[in-house]
Amino acid sequence: MPLNACELEIDLFCRGLRVPPYVSLEGARGISRTRAGLGSGLEIAIPTGSWLKPEIWMNVPVVESFAARSPYVLRGSLAAGYSIDDDRGLARYPVRLPREPVWYHRQTSRDVEMSKIGVLQGTYLGIYINPVCAFWNYKPALNCRFCTTGRNVGDADAAFKTVDDVVETCHAAKDESGVTFVHFNGGFQGSRGLRAAEPYVRAVKENVGLLVGLQLTPERDFGGYDRLIDLGVDHFSFCLELFDPEWFARICPGKARTLGQDLFLDAMDYCASRLPRGAVSGEIIAGLEPVEQTLDAIERIASAGAFPTVCVFRPTIGSDMEDWPPPEPEDIRRVLTAVYDACRRHRVPIGLAPNIEVSLVVNPDDAALLARRTPAMLAYEVWRRVLRVAARPVFGRRMRPVPR
Ligand code: SF4
Repeated sequence: MPLNACELEIDLFCRGLRVPPYVSLEGARGISRTRAGLGSGLEIAIPTGSWLKPEIWMNVPVVESFAARSPYVLRGSLAAGYSIDDDRGLARYPVRLPREPVWYHRQTSRDVEMSKIGVLQGTYLGIYINPVCAFWNYKPALNCRFCTTGRNVGDADAAFKTVDDVVETCHAAKDESGVTFVHFNGGFQGSRGLRAAEPYVRAVKENVGLLVGLQLTPERDFGGYDRLIDLGVDHFSFCLELFDPEWFARICPGKARTLGQDLFLDAMDYCASRLPRGAVSGEIIAGLEPVEQTLDAIERIASAGAFPTVCVFRPTIGSDMEDWPPPEPEDIRRVLTAVYDACRRHRVPIGLAPNIEVSLVVNPDDAALLARRTPAMLAYEVWRRVLRVAARPVFGRRMRPVPR
């Protein structure tokens, strides 16, 4: 039986994809090692053939060693179209390789290549705004063990980004790639990260008019979140990563030692109480701790009115975990089925904002394709669609520049 698009997405995250040397990727987005190294794969869009959503975007592992053993192989060309073939003779799946935007190679007015300021990850623009995450500066380093940010910033990514560089890149991404959302990320910056993000948020809201998300480690002074909400931040995400305290301390030593799990959850709860339902997310990595713990994390996040985003563990080259095995697809299916189910039961309105498809994680609404078609599921889908239409004018207003 062929897999549906979400099942294929999960299988590809867990098994990777082979790209034979004779298959040309010319014109496709380059493989960019930015943002925890998770952008190290090939961006693809999988048509679903389903009324639930037309396409699933993902970033498929292609360079890690496990991908060389994958049963999946990319075939075709830009002219003829691409497919992913299952070499066990099971199926052929048509896919689309999103084009690399022209603005990637344009310079900002300070002569920085725009792709060193930000890159598309799915349909949104991802920008790492701060100096390298401070967990990398400890001796020995306290970085999260799956992460490679400390090895990417200043290499694939410009080490310092001026507000003007960011604004110019956001303009290009909005005007030429139809981007609606910019996601600022910055790792651990002590108690200064939120404050440092303010000028970027203010400038994008005033000059460009995009939805803005922020992902930093949590800070104890929640007044920082209030200030950013006043500036117009639309979304906060909190990378809890692991729910089991021992796994959390083992894989994320810096977060465990300096912040603690409770601060992630408290900050998430606070922001969820201040923003509309579904505007906050809790990010977890699936495929490391026992599945039961991941399911508990999903329930905890959704019960706060936030949505869980699941990052399928990738043993990224150059990370401390590059020799670890990737997860089993069956475990990840269980996790994703639970994400959708928890969002439905807790009435978290997923997939409302226009044109935000995230390729590095599994979007919660991708997992609708895994759900059983019960009356409760269908009622949730109708509710989501009604809300999406009702929310259009609100998002339209929030995507207009607001000079102050
Ligand atoms: S907080 Fe962890 S995952 Fe995030 S940038 Fe720092 S080391 Fe990497």
